[in-house]
Amino acid sequence: RPRVLSGIQPTGDSMQLGNYLGAVKNWVTMQDGYDAYYCVVDLHAITLDPPEPAALRERTRIVAAQLIAAGLDPDRCALFVQSHLPEHPQLSWVLECLTGFGEANRMTQFKDKSARGGADRQGVGLFTYPILQAADILLYQADYVPVGEDQRQHLELTRTLAQRFNSRYGQTFTVPDAYIPKAAAKILDLQDPSAKMSKSRPDAGTIYLADDAATISKKLKRAVTDLDGEIRFDEAHKPGVSNLIAIHAAFTGLSIEAVEAEFAGQGYGRLKGAVAESVIAFAQPFAARTAELLDDPAELDRLLAHGAAKAAAVASVTLSRAYEAVGFLPPV
Ligand code: ATP
Ligand code: MG
Repeated sequence: RPRVLSGIQPTGDSMQLGNYLGAVKNWVTMQDGYDAYYCVVDLHAITLDPPEPAALRERTRIVAAQLIAAGLDPDRCALFVQSHLPEHPQLSWVLECLTGFGEANRMTQFKDKSARGGADRQGVGLFTYPILQAADILLYQADYVPVGEDQRQHLELTRTLAQRFNSRYGQTFTVPDAYIPKAAAKILDLQDPSAKMSKSRPDAGTIYLADDAATISKKLKRAVTDLDGEIRFDEAHKPGVSNLIAIHAAFTGLSIEAVEAEFAGQGYGRLKGAVAESVIAFAQPFAARTAELLDDPAELDRLLAHGAAKAAAVASVTLSRAYEAVGFLPPV
């Protein structure tokens, strides 16, 4: 069976809608027919504004619970926490030594994120994190990496590093392909439709799956649209409205055309109300299931330990092969 790997950061107190539609929805589907590895990438979550230790632990459990609530089954996939596997930073070091400074410097997400916090205040980890991400993927010999559109560039870097390693040291890593959904691959911020929705951006433009119904309605009601008043899907000229249409289509299972037809000639208020309903219909049972899982943190930790053991069986083999290929003397 082809192998898939993907990850999500425990940043913010909940997943946001784009994480689910752009990535996690595919993770759930791909448990069938693929050998699936999914991790909560906590090492990545300290790259920007390191959180309080207690908050990081809490968020790691929240994301894990939300992934299970979204439909991941710890028996059908390996669901684990990145920091439980020392192989990730161990491989990352080797890949860092294969990455050009200019090459790393071209990552647009680094530019976006460092601009937000003031570039000199950012740690080196924010700069090197795409390389750690490459290690996350290559350790599992993943064929496919289901992610949102924003990760396309990082995936390209991962492919480049895999090919570079293979040609220098001999065939070691599978060169992975990005698996990006055709629709909803980039959900936009409701307050700033020129940016993607993110867990780590200001609250008002982000719908968290943990938001209650009133909050979801309020955020959607205030979503930035445009002045021409026409409900039409046109990402270039009408990003705000197109984003609402895409969200509605994704949660109802309707096509973009069907949503356009349903709301033709109506006001933005009607559309926003309908989007709120379709999001809430998903978010409410999802939040209830998440709360149940978080009620038993010991069981959650046990499931994650089980996932880490499955992950370690693959990661340790790949790391040994890679270290040996590089010429590190094998420990006896
Ligand atoms: P952060 O702001 O901390 O980077 P994030 O919301 O971008 O948080 P990540 O943990 O970085 O979330 O990404 C998890 C997955 O969600 C990735 O596969 C990413 O491509 C996808 N994703 C993130 N934001 C969106 C979005 N707005 N639309 C579609 N997919 C998204
Ligand atoms: Mg992100």
